[in-house]
Amino acid sequence: MIKQNPFILRCPECGDSKIVRPKSDVINPTEMVSFCSKCKVSMKRESLSGLFKLLG
Ligand SMILES: [Zn+2]
Repeated sequence: MIKQNPFILRCPECGDSKIVRPKSDVINPTEMVSFCSKCKVSMKRESLSGLFKLLG
C-alpha cells in the first residue's frame, strides 16, 4: 500500500495555496484537480517536501 503524501495546490495567478492531505490510498479525483476560487484557473500541484525542510 502506498501512502499518499500531502501536497500543495498553488494558484499561478494570485499565488493562493492550500494544503491537501489525502486521507487514504484511494486517490479522490476531486483532490487531484482544484481551481482557484478567485481566478477560476487550475492550481498547480507542488510537493510539500521543501516546506518540511523549512519547518525543520
Ligand atoms: Zn488565484
